Amino acid sequence: MAKPPHPHVPDAFIATLTRSVQRLGFYTDASLATGGIIACTGNRGCKYSAADTKAHAVGLIKHLPGRVSPGAPVNIHFTGCPHSCAQHYCGDIGLVGAKLADGAEGYHVVLGGGMDHEQGIAREIFRGVRATEVNPLVEKVLLVWEKKKNRGETFVQWTRRHSVKELQEFLSI
Ligand code: SF4
Repeated sequence: MAKPPHPHVPDAFIATLTRSVQRLGFYTDASLATGGIIACTGNRGCKYSAADTKAHAVGLIKHLPGRVSPGAPVNIHFTGCPHSCAQHYCGDIGLVGAKLADGAEGYHVVLGGGMDHEQGIAREIFRGVRATEVNPLVEKVLLVWEKKKNRGETFVQWTRRHSVKELQEFLSI
């Protein structure tokens, strides 16, 4: 027997439930680009954080739809400091908060981390990216991967067959 699309919720209540969840400020639409975005507490609740990780993650969730549509899921991890509560080093795309020289919020950007059968530590590709530049940079990362990857190649596989220098050249904005 086919599984219902929304387990535990009768069809008649789905629209009402969706509206209620959205009114609480949560998203009900996930995509392969945004469904794997995660952020640590960030500087609204953690004294160690160099950036407002949650606000920047929400900003990216709003930015990506309509601009990118990857063919496979991508994990994007925002973490506010090297303690790495959101595990930036094992996401496909990892961002670790950093205060820039002028005091602005920014991130170091690492690519190609993975878990399970793709376990490995991400490599640092960019340092000190201004927080306001994160959305276009992640957009570009996903577009370049889609354009340059081999058929069926995951993000991790694509990044790992290129050197840091090659990735920097592909992705410079
Ligand atoms: S990663 Fe750092 S900034 Fe983020 S919650 Fe953990 S300790 Fe705080």
